[in-house]
Amino acid sequence: MNCIYFVIPCYNEQEVLPITAEQLRIKYDQLLQSGLIAESSRILLVDDGSKDRTWQIISQLHQKDSRFQGVKLSRNRGHQNALLAGLMTARSFCDAAISLDADLQDDINAMDAMLQKFQDGCDIVYGVRSDRETDTVFKRYTAQGYYKFMSGMGGELVYNHADYRLMSRRALDGLAEFGEVNLFLRGIVPMIGYRSDIVTYARKERPAGKSKYPLKKMLAFAWEGLTSLSIRPIRMITILGTLIFLVSIGMLIYSVIRHAMGATITGWTSLAVSIWAIGGLQLLAIGIIGEYIGKVYLETKSRPKYIIETYLGDSESK
Ligand code: UDP
Ligand code: MG
Repeated sequence: MNCIYFVIPCYNEQEVLPITAEQLRIKYDQLLQSGLIAESSRILLVDDGSKDRTWQIISQLHQKDSRFQGVKLSRNRGHQNALLAGLMTARSFCDAAISLDADLQDDINAMDAMLQKFQDGCDIVYGVRSDRETDTVFKRYTAQGYYKFMSGMGGELVYNHADYRLMSRRALDGLAEFGEVNLFLRGIVPMIGYRSDIVTYARKERPAGKSKYPLKKMLAFAWEGLTSLSIRPIRMITILGTLIFLVSIGMLIYSVIRHAMGATITGWTSLAVSIWAIGGLQLLAIGIIGEYIGKVYLETKSRPKYIIETYLGDSESK
């Protein structure tokens, strides 16, 4: 039987965590009974530097029931880093880890199918949303548009898959090999390879608490995904530059002809316009190139992605 770690990043989740813990406890027992998980399985809650009572709740859970474990990050590092901290902690103990959000918007009953597929030999099982009825219209369209845009940009994403997935130990070992600082897990995981499959589920509404992804964070996350996965924007700049160069040759021929016809003074408007246009394009291009240089800069520093402050694991509870 398989030792499974359920990895859950939590940031200011005091409202929802008690509900989540209860549901997970029930699910755990059910999975244990159906023989899909071993008794050594654990629920690993990662506190991503919460400012509310999240860590107290996690410690209490751990004290009462040693199946709950906690990892406390030294400060808020964002969803992706918190998730990675959890997965990398789980890696040395588990046969596979399932990552899910603290608000249980992702149907925990899809885990049976995930574990079944794992037993059948899959290394990565992606949870895929079958619908987005519970999302706001705005979120639905922006998110789906984003997946399409990303695949157009050459990023390999699993359509409508967030961070609800099962990864085997060797897939986690593979993930650990990716040394990048700009972390966009759902773009990196498909690069690991191995046999994978999907499980579909309907996404629910948050039972309590607020979404930790306001528009600003969503945009930052989307941008992060694009620039950390794809270099196609740079290539597009090259193409754009080539096109503009061709146009300028046309303009040169045109202005020579106009000059020969004796009508040079009338060119002022088009001249002024093109200066602005070229200037604008150059700035845009430099900006995007700068974005990548910024990333290179960050990567070369190889900062740690997270620092664990406390770990409430098995050894401590004994
Ligand atoms: N989260 C985190 N650190 C952050 C922001 C979010 O660990 O800085 C966690 C959060 O606690 C939740 C998950 O990431 O478990 C997804 O967040 P949320 O449910 O707010 O996002 P949404 O479902 O609205 O996209
Ligand atoms: Mg959520």
